[in-house]
Amino acid sequence: SKKSRLDRFLSVKTGTPKGDIRLLLAQKRVQVDGRIATDAQQIIDQFRHITLDGDILQSNTRRYIMLNKPVGVVSATKDDQHTTVLDLLSEYKNGEFYAPDLHIVGRLDLNSSGLLLLTNDGEWSRYLMSPENKVAKVYEVTVEKPISDECIHAFSDGMYFPFEDITTKPATLERMSDCVGRVTLEEGRYHQIKRMFGRFRNPVLKLHRISVGAFYLDNELAAGQAKNLVAVECIKII
Ligand code: URA
Repeated sequence: SKKSRLDRFLSVKTGTPKGDIRLLLAQKRVQVDGRIATDAQQIIDQFRHITLDGDILQSNTRRYIMLNKPVGVVSATKDDQHTTVLDLLSEYKNGEFYAPDLHIVGRLDLNSSGLLLLTNDGEWSRYLMSPENKVAKVYEVTVEKPISDECIHAFSDGMYFPFEDITTKPATLERMSDCVGRVTLEEGRYHQIKRMFGRFRNPVLKLHRISVGAFYLDNELAAGQAKNLVAVECIKII
């Protein structure tokens, strides 16, 4: 596993200049595995539980979180302009969600909503996101104009994007009503669904993710709400 000196870890994690880290340690504000840490040169790895003023910087337990991402929130950990999904979770700072060691499993655009998974388990997120594992991501899409048969065929045939020089993998577009479709992708290219409808001059008005693999958005979660998933079930399911 990745090893690092404690002062380096703290500096990167908190954005504090390395020279100031010794002060934090001298003030006894940092704990490693429940003990006050004073040695800046202590070597730590990803399995140490590290807190600053009681806030978790790195947790040694695997964490899995389901969020109903609202429109207007960025799938990033830091952003100068917009609220990020991690900002939403840190509102639970003294509860269970807060942990800057979380990363996002497959982003959603700023104006997309729905299921977003977060974890500190890199193996798990890599599995869900690797195209070779063909994990289905399902989206409910509202478009401006009726969905044509040509459009449905184009989704299943694959579409060539010259900019990246790739052809999209076969995808399913089901027509739920004239202007509402359900799209299933096994990959996640940049703005993929919007660009695919864009070929048909049919702007996407609403894009909402319903599921990723066996994980379905909990209907009881209002936009902006999150819940912890049970670790053993998350690991078992992939
Ligand atoms: N496709 C898009 O265009 N946007 C998303 O957020 C997800 C898939």
